[in-house]
Amino acid sequence: MLNRIVLYLGLLAALIAGAVAVDTQALDPRAILGAMKAHAQALAPLPGENTPPDTQPAEPSTQPPAQAPVQAPVQQPYVIEPPAPPVVTAPAPEPAAPVVVAPSDPAPVVVAPAPLPPEKPALAEPKNGKGPVPAKVLFAAEKLPSLGKAMAIGYYPRGCLQGGVALPVNGPTWQVMRVSRNRNWGHPSLVRFLEKFAPAAAKATGWKGILVGDMAQPRGGPTPYGHRSHQTGLDVDVWFMPMPGHTLSAEEREKTSAINLVADDWKRVNPKTWTPQHAAFIKTAAEQPGVERVLVNAAIKKEMCRVDSYRKSNWMAKVRPWYAHHDHIHVRLECPDDSPACRGQPEVTNEEDNGCSDKALAHWFSDKVLNPPKPTTPPKPPRPLTMADFPPACQTVLAAPDRAQKE
Ligand SMILES: [Zn+2]
Repeated sequence: MLNRIVLYLGLLAALIAGAVAVDTQALDPRAILGAMKAHAQALAPLPGENTPPDTQPAEPSTQPPAQAPVQAPVQQPYVIEPPAPPVVTAPAPEPAAPVVVAPSDPAPVVVAPAPLPPEKPALAEPKNGKGPVPAKVLFAAEKLPSLGKAMAIGYYPRGCLQGGVALPVNGPTWQVMRVSRNRNWGHPSLVRFLEKFAPAAAKATGWKGILVGDMAQPRGGPTPYGHRSHQTGLDVDVWFMPMPGHTLSAEEREKTSAINLVADDWKRVNPKTWTPQHAAFIKTAAEQPGVERVLVNAAIKKEMCRVDSYRKSNWMAKVRPWYAHHDHIHVRLECPDDSPACRGQPEVTNEEDNGCSDKALAHWFSDKVLNPPKPTTPPKPPRPLTMADFPPACQTVLAAPDRAQKE
């Protein structure tokens, strides 16, 4: 009986914490998360419900920093990922947070006011002594997807994934690389995309299949290293490399590096590594329905533009130059219909020559990008995102129980 009373009081505390956060916008994710975790079995009220739309800017800056990963050495291992590409027009206002179906334990009635038990810091305060725990730490700690209907929430570099599904690490025409990262998760639309793209790419290139790099973490969110986007389960990296004829060992999947297709001066493709199959691979990705962007290194875009029929095709507008991406493509899907709180990027419109004009490409081959001046003082690392930076529904996703996996 005493246990039940403590549980009910705790639930009341969670309710109050949620209500305060909603009213004031002064979200304290630690308190809410801690309370929610402690009462995961009685998750009746959701702090994400009925809150106003997220007014946080979704992307820090559209102007690429002068860090230029293009300066990376040839054969740079597959690691660094730049921020999401700039939005062409003003972003649409973000829709309200979705309503997530919660387990239907009836909320208990607390009869008499009783002194609140002291808070349990270990549960309610996941902090490290320096303030809120960075969101990337919280999301990376989740090894399984959340219960709940599959839903992409937020924006590619500022969001999360509810009810994620895994791409099997071996398929008829694909193998997943870097399995130890546990990033082969996505919205079901991303898994379906890969199941269709892999055989289509194999057919177009004559390869045995494709090598799939990072998708998302089980619950999406920011990753501790490697990417700024990939947060909503709609982004995937696919290597510029044919799948070999054998099933790769766990060690091969960790140690093999993708192939760099760009020459040392970063101004053209490397004739020793670039092949027409790579062009067919990119074209096949950009032609798939539901694809919003295919990011490639600028020298690769320039090379694709040399093919007249490609240059005139509508899909070419989706192939966008971006930093890095000299050893993999990054495919980004549109928001799925089942995800009202997902924010996509606008379609590329009014672009001369599908982005192939000299004017469109000039920026990427300017000194500013290829030989940026060295900063005199080391740039200050950006403030790590905390849960207050995310749509409130992402706190629900983090706090939700695990979904057991069938795969
Ligand atoms: Zn990527």
